[in-house]
Amino acid sequence: MNNGINLQNCTIQTVIQQNSDSQVNWDVLRLDLIHPLISGNKYFKLKYYLSDAIKSGQKGLVSFGGAWSNHIAAVAVTAKLNGLSSIGLIRGEEPAVFSPTLENAREAGMDLKFISREEYPLMNRDPTKIAGLFPGYQVIPEGGYGEAGMKGAAEILQFEGVQQYDYIFVACGTGTTLAGLAYAAEEHQVITGIPVLKNPAWEEKAIDDLLARVKKHAGFTLINRYHFGGYARFNAELLHFMNDFYNSYGIPTDFVYTGKLMFAVNDLIINNYFPAGSRILAIHSGGLQGNRSLKPGKLSF
Ligand SMILES: *Cc1c(COP(=O)(O)O)cnc(C)c1O
Repeated sequence: MNNGINLQNCTIQTVIQQNSDSQVNWDVLRLDLIHPLISGNKYFKLKYYLSDAIKSGQKGLVSFGGAWSNHIAAVAVTAKLNGLSSIGLIRGEEPAVFSPTLENAREAGMDLKFISREEYPLMNRDPTKIAGLFPGYQVIPEGGYGEAGMKGAAEILQFEGVQQYDYIFVACGTGTTLAGLAYAAEEHQVITGIPVLKNPAWEEKAIDDLLARVKKHAGFTLINRYHFGGYARFNAELLHFMNDFYNSYGIPTDFVYTGKLMFAVNDLIINNYFPAGSRILAIHSGGLQGNRSLKPGKLSF
């Protein structure tokens, strides 16, 4: 695809090379380099919602998210690049000053509608109702959760070279990306998710439900101790790690998802979680635009 979307940018970058000092090999798949706003896993999760919308002659996309949502930014720009209109149902009251994420969405032509925090969960749970409210618009559930989102995410494993890894790690919000990886993984690959929400009891079931829809019995692991207090929570240790990681490898991460993911993989390596000789791949799922919600100066990149 043209339009500034560059799948060929998605290189595999080595972080730790297996040698006499190091027992394992750790690489990162740089999906963050696809596009600044349709970044990482969002490109893949939206792919089939978009093609469904185009095939069925819809005039636009409608979806949900918060004021800093990577998903909302990606939906807005995806619609624009494909000549569709878009509606964003945003959680919370309309702010006096828009976040840079909402500014970007508005610039891409997204019609932003603010939904109260009481009403939002009810709307989000009922895609059929939303379809009735916005005829002509393809409804995309929050975070792209659904069979179309999973099937798009499964294509992440089609990048050349990805088949050789024993362990594939990804940050989890709704778990849609992880479901896609589990769906497409080869027998020898262990798919592991690092949830960024605090012990979400629903997450494992949500992933199993998606896999059941395609009659797939796939194994996966969730490691629930790297959420740093919950969604969008962080501390000085995490930011310090992210700065170090950037200074050492030139890989920027975001504090909501990929910073926690890389911290987790690094911590697991230090604590000898992996057998010697393991080949580990962390999926950099993008999300860098969200770092704009941090106070300036916190990150060195
Ligand atoms: C949205 C997002 C995720 C979460 O993906 P899910 O499929 O909802 O689990 C992970 N990383 C980044 C950077 C994201 O923007």
